[in-house]
Amino acid sequence: MARKFFVGGNWKCNGTAEEVKKIVNTLNEAQVPSQDVVEVVVSPPYVFLPLVKSTLRSDFFVAAQNCWVKKGGAFTGEVSAEMLVNLDIPWVILGHSERRAILNESSEFVGDKVAYALAQGLKVIACVGETLEEREAGSTMDVVAAQTKAIADRVTNWSNVVIAYEPVWAIGTGKVASPAQAQEVHDELRKWLAKNVSADVAATTRIIYGGSVNGGNCKELGGQADVDGFLVGGASLKPEFIDIIKAAE
Ligand code: PEP
Repeated sequence: MARKFFVGGNWKCNGTAEEVKKIVNTLNEAQVPSQDVVEVVVSPPYVFLPLVKSTLRSDFFVAAQNCWVKKGGAFTGEVSAEMLVNLDIPWVILGHSERRAILNESSEFVGDKVAYALAQGLKVIACVGETLEEREAGSTMDVVAAQTKAIADRVTNWSNVVIAYEPVWAIGTGKVASPAQAQEVHDELRKWLAKNVSADVAATTRIIYGGSVNGGNCKELGGQADVDGFLVGGASLKPEFIDIIKAAE
């Protein structure tokens, strides 16, 4: 089965209501390939989710940037998967490296979140990726496999999971992985899924790349056999996000 190209925009902790409206207007006016060719999902900060959801074109979808690990309750400051479902938010990003590093989210905690969010009916963009130190020590695949295993140990149905391979050294740094570096990890990750989950999950799960993707490098990266799209940070706040969506063509 062909894997539909996926382009996610992670707006992180950026924007005012006015800026968000401007980005949505730009997206709404853009000529992009049809939904049959590319799935587009943008992820504003929580507070702007209702605004974006209610004003964004209907062929683009919305994601939250995180959710709580279990049912809501006495967890001050958290937002539950049930709340996202209640607002009709279809997607959530989990395990982003900024949360793993700054908020100390362990792979097990991320795996628990992925399983819980899926069980509530959300679709999940699950992020994995190595630090520069880990890459230089030759342990890229061990790290990525361990992060993926923490998810695989807790998840049986992968049909609503997209894996985002995001090398930490490439996020927000302008140092993009070369197409060959991205392809190598995506290929190994797919082989890991084939061996440890199933051939079907390996063949059908989208593995997208994230880390300094922009309008200039997206075409070559997206042309790699196992790169099924992108998770875009900085460039998703700019009009060049449209060019990145067009890399699906
Ligand atoms: C990200 O935060 O997921 C990301 C890929 O950021 P950037 O594109 O800015 O490197």
